[in-house]
Amino acid sequence: MTSITELVDRYGRFRSNVLNLQASENYICPHVRMALGSDLGSRYAHIMPDGNNAYGGTSLTDEIYKETQDSIKKLYNSRFAEVRPIGGHVAAEIALLISVKRGGKIMAIDENHGGYTGYMKGYLPEMFGFSSGTIPYIQEKQEIDYERLEKEALTYRPDAIVLGQSFFLKPYDLKRIRELCDRIGSKLLYDGSHVMGLIAGKKFQNDALKYSDILFGSTHKSFFGPQGGILLTNQEELFHQAEFNTVWRTMDNYHPNRVAALGIAAQDLIAFGEDYASKIVNNSKGLGKALEERGIPVQFQPWYSESHQILLSPKINERYGSFLEISRKLEKNGIICDREGRIGLSEATRRGFNDMDRIASAISEAIKGKDMRSEITDIMRGAGLRYCK
Ligand SMILES: *Cc1c(COP(=O)(O)O)cnc(C)c1O
Repeated sequence: MTSITELVDRYGRFRSNVLNLQASENYICPHVRMALGSDLGSRYAHIMPDGNNAYGGTSLTDEIYKETQDSIKKLYNSRFAEVRPIGGHVAAEIALLISVKRGGKIMAIDENHGGYTGYMKGYLPEMFGFSSGTIPYIQEKQEIDYERLEKEALTYRPDAIVLGQSFFLKPYDLKRIRELCDRIGSKLLYDGSHVMGLIAGKKFQNDALKYSDILFGSTHKSFFGPQGGILLTNQEELFHQAEFNTVWRTMDNYHPNRVAALGIAAQDLIAFGEDYASKIVNNSKGLGKALEERGIPVQFQPWYSESHQILLSPKINERYGSFLEISRKLEKNGIICDREGRIGLSEATRRGFNDMDRIASAISEAIKGKDMRSEITDIMRGAGLRYCK
């Protein structure tokens, strides 16, 4: 039997030496790590409707919970925040359970246009017993086809329009969709899983909470970690329904160590989020341009992205192999990215990297077959940790 302790130790050493460009991930600071590894990690806490906790020894746990909730509310300027969902997916379940009855309908962006697979027919809709239609989308512009959506939603009559994508480059015209939702009596749900850190830093869809009924998403993609989810709303009734749909419906134990870590990350974002988010967007655009200049085709030239991720162009596959092959080749050189052509800049920005020419050279040379291992080791020697109190 291999010692797992040893494997985890090796994993830590492996990670400290590689450049992580995975769009769904981020780097967690030592305070967040400390909270995750603390005694809270094996505890329970559950505040009952009468205000008492169902478990003993929880007065500090309750204080942490409340402080985390307040920090999240402050960060997003929201009236209410549900901080317990253990992932963006669970937050999505809660948002859908609030908004759509069994037999109801949603519309979401198709996964072929970068939408989240969980909203496709066979997943959450089938599980919760509702049907789903797709939001018309113009791939070349990375924009919703608003006119077609208006026509189709008037006939389809969804109970909820669910926005948000996993391949997420551009914000939406939310005001327009809000008006449509008001006309057809539909809820507007915004899945910000990928961009919660950018929204917190006011660099992406600043009107997300103004126009949607519920804004929710993961806390570990562009947000500063830990892995988990949050759900925000300005409507009291929706918040009570969110609370109702959390404990004993979509989950039970909220993992108090995770909530403590979330509060710490939120306080870092309150302090540094705007600076962090604007650097990320600059880095995305800069890397897109720098890769293109080195013959690595990136989609949506010349704007590339308004978020934390850029998308390699499928044109690259003819010359350098599938995204899987490219990812494997990069990994051999110490560069980690997914197998779907996404490159994310959240973690690199947090580690203090702003020289996109150097990173683009390393990526393009590695793709072209040069051994870049010592260059990546050298780059990682310069890694720091920014935006952490
Ligand atoms: C990642 C993602 C999710 C799922 O989030 P988890 O935190 O992994 O549960 C949901 N929606 C979108 C759009 C995502 O990108």
